[in-house]
Amino acid sequence: MTAVADHVALDETALAELQAAFRGQVVGRDDPSYDEHRKIWNGSFDRYPALIARCAGVSDVIAAVKFGRRTGLPVAVRGGGHSFPGYSVADGALLIDLSPMKGTRVDPEARTARVQAGVLLGELDKETQAFGLAVPSGIVTHTGVAGLTLGGGIGWIQRKFGLSVDQLDSIDLVTADGEFVKASADENADLFWGLCGGGGNFGIVTEFEFNCVELGPTVLAGPVFWPMEQSPDVLRFYRDWVADAPDELMTIVVHRKAPPLPFVPEELHGKPVVMVICCYAGPVEEGEKVVRPLKEFGSPVADVCVPKPFLTHQAMLDPSFVPQRWYYFKSCDVDELTDDVIDITVERSLQISSPLTSFPIWQMGGAISQRRDDETAFNGRTAGHTFNIGCCTETSEGFDEEREWVRNFWSALEPYHTSVYVNFLGDEGADRVRDAYGAEKYDRLKALKQKYDPDNFFRINQNIPPG
Ligand SMILES: Cc1cc2nc3c(=O)[nH]c(=O)nc-3n(C[C@H](O)[C@H](O)[C@H](O)COP(=O)(O)OP(=O)(O)OC[C@H]3O[C@@H](n4cnc5c(N)ncnc54)[C@H](O)[C@@H]3O)c2cc1C
Repeated sequence: MTAVADHVALDETALAELQAAFRGQVVGRDDPSYDEHRKIWNGSFDRYPALIARCAGVSDVIAAVKFGRRTGLPVAVRGGGHSFPGYSVADGALLIDLSPMKGTRVDPEARTARVQAGVLLGELDKETQAFGLAVPSGIVTHTGVAGLTLGGGIGWIQRKFGLSVDQLDSIDLVTADGEFVKASADENADLFWGLCGGGGNFGIVTEFEFNCVELGPTVLAGPVFWPMEQSPDVLRFYRDWVADAPDELMTIVVHRKAPPLPFVPEELHGKPVVMVICCYAGPVEEGEKVVRPLKEFGSPVADVCVPKPFLTHQAMLDPSFVPQRWYYFKSCDVDELTDDVIDITVERSLQISSPLTSFPIWQMGGAISQRRDDETAFNGRTAGHTFNIGCCTETSEGFDEEREWVRNFWSALEPYHTSVYVNFLGDEGADRVRDAYGAEKYDRLKALKQKYDPDNFFRINQNIPPG
């Protein structure tokens, strides 16, 4: 036996066989790169896996799964490493790290993209935008395509083109038995349904195939700012304005202390602001007409909603989500921005203490709501707005207070909660996972788990126990 982590002894024969079969890198506790590879995006998690299997391809994933089976180690799976509750790594676990798997192939004629499990959103966008194409994904470029897609995938073009899973065509997957299977609407359709929202419960996806949509490369996009004291009026105006907005328009409202970024006027730096960030997934001239009433409401202190490359817009929020800072989130959907919801939002936002805390309120609806709710495992197609209440501090200093602010804010909104997006859940227990899917879908997912992973081999995730 080899002592690899403090309290985990590994079977030497199994380890030697894994190393012999592996194309990628097997990283143990003594490896100089161990610290680099165990780190994940959220700096508040400091975890020590027993072994890190950095997979180069499908054969490595199969070998790693078989090693996990043989040794009985708990298994964590990492794509982009952005799990809110830090499930991308676990103490004493075998970490199956897919981040080296970067293959991406766009077929501009068929308008499809094949994407391996380690690809990040910004990497995929660069490949697709080279052809004026896009796959709907999220709003921060260093998030993983894998984890995001398996939970649903919401982002800047969702109201026009739907969720990431709404453009998903097929999936390659390694099961808990180390078998390679494919899933699509025509092949293993039950599994495909579950993978469109059911997370990492059913196996390890090695590759996704998406349909691409036409977009840009120039879009009208960016934020319009007002001082936060004006937020009660801004949000009331916003509520009425977006009620009739075309699906091309996607907006996210952010409350925060204005960051010292070049596009923010210097006199605003550090001052509480509300911003409505737009992205128009259609012709720029048309977008200008749609966005004009917002730009003319009250007296915005800054307006940087302008034509720009979609790639630039996609990276706009990256400076707000720098890796290794400390983060905490709690999320809920609400039907409407009622006067009460607005008043709670503004009251709590004015209490933000950390200059790094910023939280998005997502406008939902559009194409997402136009598909039948039971078409995918993703729940919440009828949500009006998604609150992703989050906080951020540079280090542990001040983190507990800021986290308390998140919890209190979320509790204050409790009377208005409807659904919750599974990818925005923390480590909140089995009932919340059930809430995220709703009773009917949850039972269907449990049956699927029983079929594909009856031993709950993949359990370090938003877990759906077999049953
Ligand atoms: C800064 C930031 C911005 C975000 N923005 C958005 C957004 O705009 N839209 C949105 O929808 N979500 C967003 N999210 C939430 C995001 O979708 C989830 O955190 C998602 O799980 C991240 O995926 P990942 O691959 O980066 O993370 P990981 O931590 O690597 O993966 C998360 C979980 O997914 C599973 N998983 C990952 N890869 C695989 C695989 N190949 N096969 C099987 N299971 C796998 C595992 O269970 C793993 O624990 C954001 C998160 C962060 C931190």
